[in-house]
Parts: sequence; structure tokens; C-alpha cells
Amino acid sequence: MRVTRALRKLRGSIHPQYFKGLTSDRNIVEMPLPEKLYLSMAQHLGAPAKPIVAKGDTVTRGQCIAESAGFISVPVHAPVSGKVIDIDTAPTPSGTMAPRVILETDPENTETVTMPPMPDWNERPQEELLKRIAEAGVAGMGGAGFPTHVKLSPPSDKPINTIIINGAECEPYLTADHRLMVEQGKGIADGIRIMCYILNVKTVFVAIEDNKPEAIKTMQDALENLEGIDATVCILPTEYPQGAEKQQIAITTGREVPSGGLPMDVGCVVENVGTVLAIADAIKKGIPLTQRVTTVTGHIVKNPQNVLAPIGTTYADLVSFCGGLTAPAAKVISGGPMMGMAQPSLAIATTKTTSGLVVLEESRVHIYQAMPCIGCGRCLEACPMNLVPAAISYAVEGGDYDRAESLNILDCIECGCCAFVCPSSRPLVQHFKLAKPKIILKRRQAADAKGAK
Ligand code: SF4
Ligand code: SF4
Repeated sequence: MRVTRALRKLRGSIHPQYFKGLTSDRNIVEMPLPEKLYLSMAQHLGAPAKPIVAKGDTVTRGQCIAESAGFISVPVHAPVSGKVIDIDTAPTPSGTMAPRVILETDPENTETVTMPPMPDWNERPQEELLKRIAEAGVAGMGGAGFPTHVKLSPPSDKPINTIIINGAECEPYLTADHRLMVEQGKGIADGIRIMCYILNVKTVFVAIEDNKPEAIKTMQDALENLEGIDATVCILPTEYPQGAEKQQIAITTGREVPSGGLPMDVGCVVENVGTVLAIADAIKKGIPLTQRVTTVTGHIVKNPQNVLAPIGTTYADLVSFCGGLTAPAAKVISGGPMMGMAQPSLAIATTKTTSGLVVLEESRVHIYQAMPCIGCGRCLEACPMNLVPAAISYAVEGGDYDRAESLNILDCIECGCCAFVCPSSRPLVQHFKLAKPKIILKRRQAADAKGAK
């Protein structure tokens, strides 16, 4: 096990106020069962899961209640025992509508169904482990929700030789991954061993920002003596967006993911620490992904902390468990304040990707009036992807999506650095978030039309 520093400085980047001290020293706490859970079928990237239960059914903790709807999809399991009281359609934290199973929880029923544990995992075929990870419903818990079994199944012409474990957690306020590394380093190391076995990889970097010395220490200890694995804890300077996938690859390995490319194009797989733990649980204990740690924070949350809660817990229940609010909430964000999504209310429920819940009071919410670009160039300097945000934004505003595409809008990682530094308060990243899906759809339609000819 080695310790290194980032190979190079991040291009662009910003230094927002972090406010991690609100929760970074607090141990993870498990909350009691809420009365109801609201389980979205679209907790992952890809096709939403298909419910296989009906209203009135009783379910047991760990039971599969919705099956995967294809290769890029994962199933959903009951986080607790209870009764299905409704199946409807509701908004997800990302704002899209998706089917949802509502469960009335039964705290008396402590029965749990699990899949058979695989203590001999390193003697089984890799395909069997991938099947288990898929069956356990594991999807990227850092925010994107990409099905993990797909990420760990690269095509044969894209061999993987390096795994990067993302422990940067560069978003302000969030400390869930930090606490997982401090408290569950051994489980993360188990997940790393399993990933290395599946991908036949011997080189691993665990990337952690230097504002988490305790996590750096515990991960160093956990990675000692990983037989046959060359593990390195890579200490990154604290700056945003240090946790972005392409940036992590560049600063740990020196490799550049090409425009429009994926980490596997440069032999890398990047996985978030929570996902690595979920992999270990699925393989070693046979436990599906039904709960997660979420940072519930903000200066008006009475008792901000990292909460282990069943997936499907409402934000209202999380806030209530944390003592409620000391002032009215002006803004509720699912995820961090840079890349997270503002929520219409506390009635929305957590998913597999809910890393944080940030509740802001009025004085911390910046209501701005967008003004014309003054050509200051600050957005260019701040962009970690070397894009020209001002020009892309004008192309989007003018409806010229072809020009936006030619300016590489699809390489935008939606980090928000450009909007953060803009003195004219231009909604740059907001423009890009709206335009990108339209451009992707147009591309797909063009490809389909070509295929149909
Ligand atoms: S949001 Fe996109 S354009 Fe803006 S700084 Fe980030 S990567 Fe660059
Ligand atoms: S930071 Fe704002 S004002 Fe300055 S160039 Fe970019 S869009 Fe224009």
C-alpha cells in the first residue's frame, strides 16, 4: 500500500465554502423505521424497474418487489417488511415521473430474506458475481445511479487495468462518504478485492481530498496487506469538482478520457465508496441494496448528521429524525448544492443515489437576475472540461443546438463551476442541463432513422 499526491492540479475548479464541519465528526446513526416508504422504480440510470407486487400484498424485508427491465436496469427490493398500500406514479428527486410502490412498514416483522452468501467468491466464475450484483440491485450511489454490473462488464476490446475508488466527496456540505470510509474501511477493502477479482485488475487508487485526514488514515490501514493488489491512497487537494470521474482519472493516473469517451476507453473503472460497500454486502452477505447513508444537513437543521435510513424514506421523515428545522426552509436540495437538484417539497423520498439532503434558509439562497455576458472569461477559467460556457450558453439560448453540440456541450459534466463564478449571474449550467437531453435525443433519432433506411 502506498500513499501519493495528485499527479497534477485540476484544470479549472473553484473553492466554495464547504460547511462540512456540520456533520463530518458525527458518527453514522441508524434511524427508526418510518411508517411508510415510497420506493421509486427509477432509482438508477436506464429503464425503470417493473413492479412485481400488487396493492394489498405483504412483503418481507429483502424481497424483490420490482424486476429489472433490461440489461441497463436493476431490480428494487423491500427495505423492510410491510404491506403494499398503493402503486402510483410520482416525481423522483431528479424531477422525472416514474412508477412508485408505497409500503406501509411493519416494525413487528423482523424476518429478512437474503440471497445465499458467497464466502468463496474468489473461487466462483466472475459471471456469477456479476449476476449477483445485478440481482442485488446495486447501482452507483455517488449520484449517477449507473447499474454496477454493467460498469463491471466492459466489452472485450476495452480491457480495464485500473480501478479508482472515489472518496473525494468534493461537494460542499456532504460527508456521508467521508463517514463510510472512517467507519467501514474494512468493508470497502472487501469490495475493492471483489472488484479486482471480477475485472482481473491489480492496480487500485483510492482518491481522497486532503480535508479528510481521518478517512485517509483509516483507508490506509484498511488497504494494508491486500494480497496481490497494488493499492494507493491518492491524496487530492481540496477543490471542486475533484470528485468528477474524468478529473479523478487524470489526476490519479495521468490519462485523459477523450471527448465523448468513457473511463473504460483509458482502461479505468471509477466507483464511489458507498457502491463498493454495496458490492461487498451483495457478494459476502447476500444483502440487496435497500438502505444508504444520507447527509442530512444545513444550518437550520437542528441536529445535522449522517443518517442510515431505508431507501424510500421521505425527506420530511429524515428532517424530523434530525430534530426538525429552526427556521423556515427556503430551498431543499437533494444531493450537494453544486450538482444536486432543488426539490419542490419534503414529500419526495430518497433513492439509491441520495447522498445528501441540504436544507437552506432564506439568507443562504441567492435569488439572482441574469444579466448579459460581459465577456470577462471567468467561466472559461473555471471550467474543468476546457469548454467555452459563455458561447455554449448563447447558442442554447438562441436555440442553435447544432452549434452548442459543435462546442462540445455533451462533454459538460454539469459541475456548475461556470455559473458559480459568473459575475452576471448567467444560468449557464442550467442552460446546459436543459439542452443536453434534447441534443442526445436528436442524436438517437438521427441514428434510428439511419438504421431504418
Ligand atoms: S457546468 Fe459544464 S460548462 Fe460549466 S464549468 Fe462545469 S463542465 Fe464546464
Ligand atoms: S463568466 Fe459570465 S459574464 Fe463572464 S464570460 Fe462567462 S458568461 Fe460571460
